[in-house]
Amino acid sequence: MKLARLIFIVAAVALMGAAGTLSAQEAHFHPKGNPPTEHTIKILEEARAVLPFHDTRDFEENERGFIAAPDSMIIKADAGHNAWDMERYQFLDTDKQFDSIHPSLQRQSTLNLAFGLYEVIPGIYQVRGFDLANITFVKGKTGWIVFDPLTAAETARAGKELVDEHLGEFPVVAVVYSHSHGDHWGGVRGIVDEADLRSGKIEIIAPRDFMEFAVSENVYAGNAMTRRLFYQYGVLLPASPYGHAGQGLAQNVAAGNLGLIAPTRIVEDSIEEFEVDGIHMIFQNTPGTEAPSEMNTYIPSMKALWMAENVVGSVHNIYTLRGARVRDSLRWSKYINEALYAYGQEAEVMFASHHWPRWGNDRVQEVLRDQRDIYAHMNNQVLHYVNQGVTINEIHNIYDSPPSLDEGWTTGFYHGSRENNSRGIVNFYLGHWDANPATLIPLSPRDSAPLYVEMMGGSKKILKKGQELYDKGKYLHAVEILDKLVFAEPKNGAAKDLLADTYEQIGYQQENPGLRNAFLAGAFELRSGIPEGASPKTSGPDVIRAMTTDLFLDFLGIRMDSRKAEDMSFTINLVTPDNGEKYLIELSNATLTNIEGYQADDADLSITIDRADLEQVMTGVKSFADQIADGTAKTEGDVGILSRLASTMVEFEIGFEILPGTKGPSEQKESNPFEVTDLASPAE
Ligand SMILES: [Zn+2]
Repeated sequence: MKLARLIFIVAAVALMGAAGTLSAQEAHFHPKGNPPTEHTIKILEEARAVLPFHDTRDFEENERGFIAAPDSMIIKADAGHNAWDMERYQFLDTDKQFDSIHPSLQRQSTLNLAFGLYEVIPGIYQVRGFDLANITFVKGKTGWIVFDPLTAAETARAGKELVDEHLGEFPVVAVVYSHSHGDHWGGVRGIVDEADLRSGKIEIIAPRDFMEFAVSENVYAGNAMTRRLFYQYGVLLPASPYGHAGQGLAQNVAAGNLGLIAPTRIVEDSIEEFEVDGIHMIFQNTPGTEAPSEMNTYIPSMKALWMAENVVGSVHNIYTLRGARVRDSLRWSKYINEALYAYGQEAEVMFASHHWPRWGNDRVQEVLRDQRDIYAHMNNQVLHYVNQGVTINEIHNIYDSPPSLDEGWTTGFYHGSRENNSRGIVNFYLGHWDANPATLIPLSPRDSAPLYVEMMGGSKKILKKGQELYDKGKYLHAVEILDKLVFAEPKNGAAKDLLADTYEQIGYQQENPGLRNAFLAGAFELRSGIPEGASPKTSGPDVIRAMTTDLFLDFLGIRMDSRKAEDMSFTINLVTPDNGEKYLIELSNATLTNIEGYQADDADLSITIDRADLEQVMTGVKSFADQIADGTAKTEGDVGILSRLASTMVEFEIGFEILPGTKGPSEQKESNPFEVTDLASPAE
């Protein structure tokens, strides 16, 4: 990668030289990149003209209560790299309107430059801009009650240090995990001392089913989800007016040590009240909303309402582009409504795990109502159209949010998009089929594309028409035919370049950062290929420890290439004495299954191994064979089964191809200037 880096620097310097007075950030980072066209500029100008910029309350709320910021905008990871870097987004700290960033997104990303320690009200403080999420400190009788300790130990620790410096040193006595997504618990080891936890000095409180979902949500389809992060989160894109311009929820995700400490107290009931370090708190479980396990908290003595990630300064994902189960928009709306009537009638401040607080009961109610309404509106209006025949392939062009909400900022689409939330809702109720027989068993894109290209008269004609559409600013039309050409002719460089140019303009036009990033990432990969050495952030030992054995066994069934197991069949009894579990594992019909609590009378193989030792197999530190060889695992029966099973296992690679002709040896790839390290999986 060093050579590639050097080439990039040379290219960038050459570009800057050619551009004369352009600063580094005003010059496009990619040698093949283009500035916005007149069509894109016009669309952004039109948006700018109608957006409600006169309403500046978000900016006032964003700045209110500022106490201090640290000197450096970079937080180092223990491993030496930058865990967090706000410097790279300082190009957004300007009055200049970029013509390659949607004005609504630019506004949101400017708000997300907030960085430092803030007072919410006396007794509640937040550190913002240190990670994807906020870390919140509520003053208890003897110490801090921390809500949501960020993604990485390094950023959470830095947050606590800032609090210590300006508010005095107090111990962390309790932690509340608002929900099961990693950006809300991964940094817990940065603020909690293991010894204090064991001695019972610290309580960790979480919603119902927290551990199950904290671990399981990203396992089964985890590799695909991580790959798709390249698109939704624009992992390859430099921070630039032409590249990554913020993530809507915050600027980015921290890359550091992700750990997990199991909660000591679970809120099981729909609503539970109890004291935490002398502070009376009411917890409202909201399962199946933003996360499968989530809860809001109301603190009556402070009239303070914590809305977790259920209400933030954006509309959230019903469907998230990196891939996740579609969420229930109506249920989400109903839980917000419950919070509005149970607590919102008297709450004087509302704060959350992303963005800024809202002060005053009127404002709290306004935001709760608007957010309640947008989730219900998406659900109801989409189904209203669906019941009149609108399909999943049309709804994104038809659904629109209500004008009264578009006139304000409380429901901007900075995380979920109208387009993909509406499609997600159709999918939630009806699944992927649009009821057109033509789409019932369609050809794969690589199989249908050559026929299209042939019938359109070949690549030259398509390129000519594609260019014509591009020149007219009809980018979505251009995509229709260029995508077919690229799928039919993956080595056609001119086709890939024109498609990349087209994606780039569409990307610039998007308000939603997930859409922007996905189009710009597509352009990037078409131009430069998929970089080699892209390594996902592996799950740390805490997360592996928290994996249930059946989840691990299920995942083995996914890793198994069943085509290699067609002639195999066997049963295994697995016993893990240290936690008292037993499993019956069967391979039959080229399928690996498992059931907890059962054993076969005549198993082909019996394995006895402590769960603690099995974890070494789960992390890949030690193989089953080694465990057997050194006596850690005891076996009875045909041990050869294990090597036969191992021979069917596939190691998933992160860099699989999404767009044709972007993987494999090519000169384009050699010049790829950007390295990818430490992808976190926030599962937002
Ligand atoms: Zn989050």
